[in-house]
Amino acid sequence: MHSIKSVLDEAAATLAPVSDSAMLDAEILLCQALDKPRSYLRAWPGKQLLPKQLAIFKALLEQRQQGKPIAYITGQREFWSRDFQVSPDVLIPRPDTELLIELSLALIPAEQPCTLLDLGTGSGIIAITLAAERPQAQVSAIDFSLAALDIAKLNADRHKLSNIEFYRSDWFASVPATKFDLIISNPPYIAEDDAHLQQGDVRFEPRTALSAPEQGLADIRMIATAARDYLNPGGHLLIEHGYNQQQPVQALFKDLHYAKVQTYSDLSGQPRATYGQWP
Ligand code: GLN
Repeated sequence: MHSIKSVLDEAAATLAPVSDSAMLDAEILLCQALDKPRSYLRAWPGKQLLPKQLAIFKALLEQRQQGKPIAYITGQREFWSRDFQVSPDVLIPRPDTELLIELSLALIPAEQPCTLLDLGTGSGIIAITLAAERPQAQVSAIDFSLAALDIAKLNADRHKLSNIEFYRSDWFASVPATKFDLIISNPPYIAEDDAHLQQGDVRFEPRTALSAPEQGLADIRMIATAARDYLNPGGHLLIEHGYNQQQPVQALFKDLHYAKVQTYSDLSGQPRATYGQWP
């Protein structure tokens, strides 16, 4: 028989070798196959699946067995309590990046108009979250990837935001000569020879969004250097980086004459974002 409970137990056992969250993965995929919320699975453990539902579930399960990340199978991921569409053209939103939102919201006054620039926006999570939380802000967001910009625009439409514009640029290359109050980025920063690029979900993500030359520091250097010409006096620069990059990123910011340089840790206690103020 193919009850919800038996199907889930079997799927979790199948996924255990490839996933640290086998039961959760199985539940998410079954919700997708049944087009029901997770509460439904708990409420009706004895309910039998129709052959068609079982076939859809098996197809989803097989993708996960081959390693494909859950977010790419379902096409969704939550960030700062909003749902975002994702595809293999963009990084999967990570809880670590919510640190950038927390810090930005503390920097941007709730009432005052201001201008923000998000570099390498990907699915648009940073730009869209800030545009939604700070409706008086004017947000610009760039990415080099046209495929990523398509996803970001879909997400902005989905959240009905009009205080945001997306365009293609290679970092600052096509950014007009204007000044911003906050420049923010979650750039690629993993060293190119880092073993963890060959492991788990990361293998399926766009490599150009993940890793950079110079031990992962090349793009951070580029951004921090050029941002000086695009920041208002007193403007803020905030960049996400690797757990092991606090020292070089702080040294870089200080060399470039940013003030109040400070690094903040993510929820798992890892140094994750460095701040600097343009004097
Ligand atoms: N934090 C991500 C990871 O370690 C990398 C994200 C990024 O390169 N911007 O997988």
